[in-house]
Amino acid sequence: MQLVVVDAGHGGRDSGAVGMYGVLEKDLNLKYAMALCESLHKFGVYAVPTRRDDRFIALEDRADVANVLDADLFVSIHCNAFHDEQANGFEIWTSKHDIDEPSCDLANMICNDVGPNIPNLRMRGVKHGRLVVLDKTIGHSILIECGFITNEDDYDVLCDDYIYKELIKSIRREIVLWLEDRKQNN
Ligand SMILES: [Zn+2]
Repeated sequence: MQLVVVDAGHGGRDSGAVGMYGVLEKDLNLKYAMALCESLHKFGVYAVPTRRDDRFIALEDRADVANVLDADLFVSIHCNAFHDEQANGFEIWTSKHDIDEPSCDLANMICNDVGPNIPNLRMRGVKHGRLVVLDKTIGHSILIECGFITNEDDYDVLCDDYIYKELIKSIRREIVLWLEDRKQNN
């Protein structure tokens, strides 16, 4: 059975970004991570969260969950923030991009699904950079920045009970397709 580790960014004493109306990134990340796990389970994918409640976990320990379980994929869920409230949109980060084509493929697939399905969310696309939590993961890994909680429009999307579930559905749909493809090709 294929296994995905879903990481809810931040937690405990690390609240992550603070958004509009005092919303804390760690709380949204946990909500989305648990929703993604549940959705993956429904589609026959074994999904393990790095945390199920509000607790602090070091970046290395998050990656270790995926490494110890030899996960097919590690997905870290975050929300963005910026001092300029105009900054908005959805983006996905990949690391090790020179050697990890499958992660880039998945990141592009998710962006191409989220773009048309969540039109209120500006599509910033796939970014490459060195991120500790991705670098420490041995297998394929992506980090999703769901939107800017410091931007009014993104906040409305991210905190709307219907739209955020549609967003999670798009992410789940592409993960399932990507896993299916890898199963056939391996
Ligand atoms: Zn974050």
